Amino acid sequence: PFDVLVIGGGPAGASAAIYAARKGIRTGIVVERFGGQILDTLTIENFIGVKQTEGPKLAARLEEHVKDYDIDIIQPYRAKRLEKKELIEIELENGAVLKSKTVIISTGARWRELGVPGEAELKNKGVAYCPHCDGPLFENKDVAVIGGGNSGVEAAIDLAGIARHVTLLEFLPELKADAILQERLYSLDNVTVLKNVETKSINGTERVQGLTYVERDSGEEKELKLDGVFIQIGLVPNTEWLEGTVERNRFGEIIVDKYGATNIPGVFAAGDCTDAAYKQIIISMGSGATAALGAFDYLIRN
Ligand code: FAD
Repeated sequence: PFDVLVIGGGPAGASAAIYAARKGIRTGIVVERFGGQILDTLTIENFIGVKQTEGPKLAARLEEHVKDYDIDIIQPYRAKRLEKKELIEIELENGAVLKSKTVIISTGARWRELGVPGEAELKNKGVAYCPHCDGPLFENKDVAVIGGGNSGVEAAIDLAGIARHVTLLEFLPELKADAILQERLYSLDNVTVLKNVETKSINGTERVQGLTYVERDSGEEKELKLDGVFIQIGLVPNTEWLEGTVERNRFGEIIVDKYGATNIPGVFAAGDCTDAAYKQIIISMGSGATAALGAFDYLIRN
């Protein structure tokens, strides 16, 4: 059996595997593709110490770094079930079962997509999901934020400090964000809020040029001219496969303590699949390191 088996090859998983292997313990990693979400990221400017890089480049670096160690790479597979027996058993989608003394779950998350025409085609060409990451690319430009929950309103406030103008679109008749965030939003003079509107399409050929929406009460169709569209309708953790085993919160995020430990002894988690407050590369890598050290600590005590 493995001492540490990491599930997921994004920033959190790569970091966990390297930290575990550096303890000289038997380490494996189940990887679909190295890199995770950063494979969908164009420019990265907030990975401290690296002024600027690109997602696929950083992903290749992660893979190279993991391969520098004696780590069993089980690729390309996805885990579909976890069971705690004497050891922890991980069943893969092909039916194979791996056994380990500890497991670190780092299966990440995916942004919920709007599912309108133009969204997929213009991804990274003006359609964005992460204001912390891509906001600065829209300096003095006109952008829209879709979604009036906390993350949408926070994104709009954040972007209002960078962009020329921000339009926030909410499907429901009211914003769902906390009152204090709404107050702040309405105090900004370069923000327009459209409620009770449905986004129909994101338009543009090479890059985003605008979007089409419908006013839900009048049925009237309208257009906005834009340089960018931030979609903020939720981040979905890739934890469906843990249904009934590892404890998760109402968003589906794995609940971890300060060691990265879950409710199941020997099962740890790190990165965007957890209830960590913020979801970023540097944060995921930090929590991967924490979970690996937590798992090592668990191994020497048990
Ligand atoms: P992920 O990167 O999601 O990796 C998880 C991996 O696990 C994936 O490869 C997934 O396929 C795999 N997996 C899922 N389920 C299973 C399973 N059952 N079995 C095995 N494997 C599985 N952050 C920044 O700091 N700076 C940026 O500039 C930035 N830009 C971004 C731009 C975009 C478009 C997106 C989407 C995100 C961006 N982020 C950025 C956020 C950053 O990418 C994430 O916080 C980070 O990748 C999270 O790392 P992770 O390892 O926790 O999860």
